[in-house]
Amino acid sequence: MIGTVRASKGAKPPGGRRRRQVGLRLLMWSLSLWSALWGWAGQPGVYVVQKGDTLTAIAREHGVSVSALAKLNDLELDDIIRPGQKLKLPEGAGKAERPAPAKTVTVRKNDNLTLIAREHGVDVLDLARANGLTLDSIIHPGQRLVIPEGPVAAERSPLPATVRRAIEQAPVRKGRWRYIIIHHSATTAGTPRAMDAYHRRVRHMENGLAYHFVIGNGHGMKDGEIYVGQRWNCQLPGGHLSSARLNEVSVGICLVGDFNRSKPTRRQLESLEALLQALLERCGLQPDAVTTHKRIVPGHTECPGRLFSLKSVLRGLESD
Ligand SMILES: [Zn+2]
Repeated sequence: MIGTVRASKGAKPPGGRRRRQVGLRLLMWSLSLWSALWGWAGQPGVYVVQKGDTLTAIAREHGVSVSALAKLNDLELDDIIRPGQKLKLPEGAGKAERPAPAKTVTVRKNDNLTLIAREHGVDVLDLARANGLTLDSIIHPGQRLVIPEGPVAAERSPLPATVRRAIEQAPVRKGRWRYIIIHHSATTAGTPRAMDAYHRRVRHMENGLAYHFVIGNGHGMKDGEIYVGQRWNCQLPGGHLSSARLNEVSVGICLVGDFNRSKPTRRQLESLEALLQALLERCGLQPDAVTTHKRIVPGHTECPGRLFSLKSVLRGLESD
């Protein structure tokens, strides 16, 4: 037995070599598997679904629209996606930067939203919204507030900042408004100034412009431009309905155009929807508060015209 051991000394036992080779192959194989997986994950244009992911979250993270992402991958918006599933990313997708941890401040004595906003160089409306507050919310010493990173409200609402501000800053009493009434001007062109003059001189309205808001159609005003009237800023009753009782509780919006002859423009409808959204929120109303002149005073007028669809406006409001 001793001789045998000596005889084999220095020679590699054949079984050992095989084991080493198998081990090496396994190592190479797992390395290539890793790099393949790594390649997939790191490959531009492809995303591997992680646990807890949703299409919406992935789209947001990559700065693409959820419908584009779904379409590219032959998915329906409500399809279930599974961890490990590979999704193609639409062109132009970039990994959005991870949001930094929210910056917070503690309210001191005599602080108010305006002061804090100014101190941190953010818009006071954004500050309020980031904290689920309105401009007239009371804040208390010791309360912690999140300082928004960017223009929070601007992302959520396509309304221009001046209009948003006018809506937020008007001294709206709780329960002040019950309806929001949509009108057309029944003219092909129009401006708030001309309407104001007409309402003062011809209709003898001392508060002028009968509506709270006017939305332009590109003729006289910019297409989709929203004009905020004094009746809104000062929370005065409208002059847009024949009933004083209804004027008292109805916000009036006039879209420039004759919608018996042509449809409202796409931009007018987009502005209308954004405006309605903001007004419903500000006035504490539900979408069923939105109606038209002819619906609230049946048989009296065709306003806002046969080509205006209240139904599609309401559908837009409900889908948001
Ligand atoms: Zn009308």
